[in-house]
Amino acid sequence: MSATARTVQTVTGPAPAADLGTTLIHEHVLVGFPGWELDAKAPPFRRAEAMARAVDQMHELQAEGVRTFVDPCPMDLGRDVEFLAELSQQSGMRIVCTTGAYFEAEGITHTFRQLPEEEITEIYVKEITEGVGETGIRAGAIKIATGSRVVSPYEKKLVTAAARAAKATGVPLISHTQDASCGHDQIDLVTAQGVAPHRLVVGHSDGTADHWYQRSLAERGAFVGFDRFGISLFISDDVRIQNLLRLADAGHTERILVSHDSIVCWLGRPVPFAQSYDQLLAALPDWRPTTIFRKVIPKLLEGGLSQDQIDTILVDNPRRLFSAT
Ligand SMILES: [Zn+2]
Repeated sequence: MSATARTVQTVTGPAPAADLGTTLIHEHVLVGFPGWELDAKAPPFRRAEAMARAVDQMHELQAEGVRTFVDPCPMDLGRDVEFLAELSQQSGMRIVCTTGAYFEAEGITHTFRQLPEEEITEIYVKEITEGVGETGIRAGAIKIATGSRVVSPYEKKLVTAAARAAKATGVPLISHTQDASCGHDQIDLVTAQGVAPHRLVVGHSDGTADHWYQRSLAERGAFVGFDRFGISLFISDDVRIQNLLRLADAGHTERILVSHDSIVCWLGRPVPFAQSYDQLLAALPDWRPTTIFRKVIPKLLEGGLSQDQIDTILVDNPRRLFSAT
């Protein structure tokens, strides 16, 4: 085991993996789709207001015991590592950012389509070992992403490049899946490059009621992301809770990670049916990064999970993901 594997790169410098504490593995501070700043009808981005809102959010999470906030924003979705570093300094929250790009249909694909896989690996390794641009702020994990049902050649190239960068640097991979599909393709692509499945979180695997899909990912050794608590558009939190309990009951507590995929400030207009982010938030009252602590954990305890198992999910599993143990 190398020393680096036990150290996590945060936006303010290295931290021992053992110190991560209660960790939310998939939340966001700023997110905007490529070209968001070109939408003249969108509310403008006001940095100081966004920072104040983000600091408040971090303090609210600290009051719930959260010590580490992982923001796997892809590099092409409005990632702003200097904003994250300033937020970390102002709030005292430990924040981890990622390198890696989004899936073909929703990312900024033109540039990476031109580049050979080896150069994409080099770009990711550079962001992990030296920092993003000239900021010196280093990524602590790699985001990978695939589209619905089928992994495109573009996505295969990027996931393979990411796996090679993970292999070279020892950082874990955090994924986006679309419609809870292609999790097995992600495991195949990552393990083909010699990365162990337990260095991958198959994200958004809670977007289905299909226990057997989730269980099959856990059985292969990957982490299963129940990371969209509060997003009740397609799946309710009650279904997520039932499925989480069932996976734990099948002996896979050590493969579960939880989060909300929340966003403090959306850049531009979020989705066609909402004119502003506040309108979307009003429609999804539980889509807040505190929901797990206030609404989900009591139901998990009622459903038979022990406090030890909750600690495994919130503290031990993130530490194991980052420290490769
Ligand atoms: Zn996300």
